[in-house]
Amino acid sequence: MTSRFWAAGVLAVLLVALITVAAVLVPWHRPPAPRADQLAALGQLPAEQVARARAFHSALRPPAYAGLAVGLLAALAMGLTPLGAGIVSLAGRPFGGNWVARAVLGGLAVVLVVEVVTLPFAAWRHTVVVRYGISTQSWGGWAVDIAKSFAVGAVIGGLALLGFYTVVRLAPRWWWAFAAAGAAGLVVLLSFVVPVLVEPVFNKFTPMSAGPLRTALLELAERDRVPVRDVLVADASRRTRAVNAYVSGLGPTRRIVVYDTMLSQATPDEVVSVVAHELGHSRHNDVRTGTVIGALGTAAGVIALFLLGSWTGLLRLAGVASIGDPRAIGLVLAVATVAGLVGGPAQAFVSRRIEARADAHALELTGDATTFEAMQDRLGAVNLSDPDPPTWEYVWSASHPSTVERMAAARAYARGER
Ligand SMILES: [Zn+2]
Repeated sequence: MTSRFWAAGVLAVLLVALITVAAVLVPWHRPPAPRADQLAALGQLPAEQVARARAFHSALRPPAYAGLAVGLLAALAMGLTPLGAGIVSLAGRPFGGNWVARAVLGGLAVVLVVEVVTLPFAAWRHTVVVRYGISTQSWGGWAVDIAKSFAVGAVIGGLALLGFYTVVRLAPRWWWAFAAAGAAGLVVLLSFVVPVLVEPVFNKFTPMSAGPLRTALLELAERDRVPVRDVLVADASRRTRAVNAYVSGLGPTRRIVVYDTMLSQATPDEVVSVVAHELGHSRHNDVRTGTVIGALGTAAGVIALFLLGSWTGLLRLAGVASIGDPRAIGLVLAVATVAGLVGGPAQAFVSRRIEARADAHALELTGDATTFEAMQDRLGAVNLSDPDPPTWEYVWSASHPSTVERMAAARAYARGER
């Protein structure tokens, strides 16, 4: 009882901290891009470009939503029926039911089943992105990528499972406290190490070669007072024609990455505009904000899971006696999947606000609304983004403002509206 009392108290504190951090660090109040400017921008885009982007997204929806539904059903089947517990027992059997085998092999087996069930939908999606000329990957390359992400997931997931169930065994009543701290620590650690340990598994990163563009970008960073040692180029063209840039890592591992496709498709001025947006993320410490919110949210999630573990009806459905039993991993997966789906729109909302702030930063830094708008137009055209997506889909999942919103923001900026 004492442990549960403390867990509820700490959960309340974490939720208050989460709300406070989000209230302070997320730019909630941004003037919306004027709709009239959005419609004007939309009207100026070539009709066939808009139609093709919309056809692309219509073709993507069936695999995306069917895959989501099947993945959810599979996770629920693992957690709300004894299926998951059975798989964990089976994985432990060759090892005499040893708890490490159950926790690591059993846990990975349950996740793998859900992944494999949704694989056909990922393959279906691949046929669409190839048909529309976005992906340049053969089935071989696609399969290698999937195998690599399974392997990375197995290493990180295996270590997390081992750590979690070790703590549960050592502190059967207070594991929530150690597990919450450990999970938050893992989120922070991953923010540091993913750019140097995980991203290179999928792409090769090379410093942008010396020349006027590199000099211009480093000068831009200096003018923005953002310490940038290097701008890296990723060999994205090995799998996609899409163009992108991003900033990842924290402190010593912070880097700005530009896709090589961007360098071949966009004008140097447009690359400057994109990098100015990425500098906005650095300047406002957006990776740090995401990491802090992620760490607090993950810790809160672990404690909520502990408290949920006293719901005997749920345990009975899963055929387990305790949420801390490795055989309950299917239940944990089901809860996490539902939480991810429910939290998705909130996450997307926060992301859009942060992206809009980075756009505003790019406009301020370059003072070049014309190039910014041309860059958004090109980004949308090359990536086949729906320039003005349906509201429900935008609210559900859009991580960035729409193309017409971003073009409209540039038009408002050019008129002197800040
Ligand atoms: Zn961004």
